[in-house]
Amino acid sequence: MDQIIIENLRVYAHHGVYSEENKNGQNFYITAVMETDTRNAGTLDDLDLSTNYGEVCMFINDFVAEHTYKLIETVAEKTAEAVLLKFPLIRRVTLEIRKPEAPIPLPFESVSVKIVRGWHRAYLSCGSNMGDRKAHLDGAVEALREDNMCRVIKCSDWIVTEPYGGVVQEDFLNGAIALDTLYTPAMLLKKLHEIEYAHDRERKIHWGPRTLDLDILLYEDCVMHTEELTIPHADMHNRYFVLNPLAQIAPYERHPILGSSIGQLYEVLGNGAGKACVIENLHIERLTLEQAREIYGTYAQSDFPPEEIKPFRVIEETWGRGSYHAYGFYEGTTLCAYAFLVADVEKRLLLLDYFAVVGERRGQGYGSRALALLREGCAEWNALVIEVEDDELPDINEETRCMRKRRISFYTAAGCLMSTTRSRLWGVDYRIMVMPLMDQYAQMCMADKLHAIYTNLYREDILRQYFVITAE
Ligand code: ATP
Ligand code: CA
Ligand code: CA
Repeated sequence: MDQIIIENLRVYAHHGVYSEENKNGQNFYITAVMETDTRNAGTLDDLDLSTNYGEVCMFINDFVAEHTYKLIETVAEKTAEAVLLKFPLIRRVTLEIRKPEAPIPLPFESVSVKIVRGWHRAYLSCGSNMGDRKAHLDGAVEALREDNMCRVIKCSDWIVTEPYGGVVQEDFLNGAIALDTLYTPAMLLKKLHEIEYAHDRERKIHWGPRTLDLDILLYEDCVMHTEELTIPHADMHNRYFVLNPLAQIAPYERHPILGSSIGQLYEVLGNGAGKACVIENLHIERLTLEQAREIYGTYAQSDFPPEEIKPFRVIEETWGRGSYHAYGFYEGTTLCAYAFLVADVEKRLLLLDYFAVVGERRGQGYGSRALALLREGCAEWNALVIEVEDDELPDINEETRCMRKRRISFYTAAGCLMSTTRSRLWGVDYRIMVMPLMDQYAQMCMADKLHAIYTNLYREDILRQYFVITAE
């Protein structure tokens, strides 16, 4: 890449922690190495903008002289950002700010900070299956365009894709976006969440499938894994609805872990044929008590919050009375999901006590597929009862509300109905959903039946002490 280098540009400015520094000022020496990228010239609006180093010098001089910051770290940060925003062809700038007259009562030549800042290429996936899907995706692009820390380089077509798992729900509209950004990955994720929430909020009355999902697929060659963020997106290589649009706009980009190009990954996945057959192989098995014990011990602790975990002894006792069932969902012999159920044999009702998709298989439609299998497997029962955390409480934050709505929409998509019943146990508020298994068992007030199920699981005195069940 071409470089423009400015060495020791002297600027008289007023940065410093002390008021005398702010008042009197002193000399700062600025060295800037700027890398320009002519590849971008064609994609930016203003083709006339070329990087004239005289202009860059003037700009840095004015910027550093006109602002006042306490720390030279801040001077460097703000100046680098301003240069990158002002001169579109500069991809990256290394900026050193020296302060040889810093008020330090010891002999020294100078103090300085040196930072490297630049534009980073990121690829996003976007999806919607609720409301005006196209408007949501277009809206996301618009919101990114309006942010001067982002430059939208390219968008794929928005393609219609079937949801995973064969359960009836709205088709998705999916796409991919190429972006240059000054944000770090974490800041970019935050921005994407803001855009998602802005779109959810507009449709507050609805609960149901998501209006907008924005994921980071790639961010330069970055490989990272924190609690909030995994880059590259952990499952991108398995998803038709990700690879198809991404291959349109970035076939030659490489997956930094797998090493293959996006085009190759798409080819391997095979025009969408692969996605369905992965989950076709899933089958359901009734678990023995020992299998259930092992699965509960291995997975439940990490799949559920501590307040939802009970001693296995409680399950075992209920099992002993014939009122507890467990199912595993397997591909071959590999456990993919599990469902633990409290059974009210007399009323022919099942309560979904624990239901989770195992680790790396999350988010690929295994949940819906497993639920569909459970439904088939439990066809002789009346209904499956599901507790979902209350999304209508006034005092939860927007993020929690969105997560709860998504959970509810997952069950709605699988054919569950929202009842008017609510329950509160161990301090957690739930709404009760019902999946009718017998046709005539449609929406109805579940309060007394729920109570019967709970009674099976807990002693009457505990119930009275901890459970509140209401029906409107
Ligand atoms: P999936 O990630 O399987 O597509 P999802 O998009 O449906 O699932 P969300 O509920 O939208 O899942 O996101 C849950 C969390 O995933 C986010 O809050 C975020 O912290 C985390 N996450 C991890 N890696 C990424 C990534 N690369 N892009 C976006 N979110 C990510
Ligand atoms: Ca996603
Ligand atoms: Ca997401």
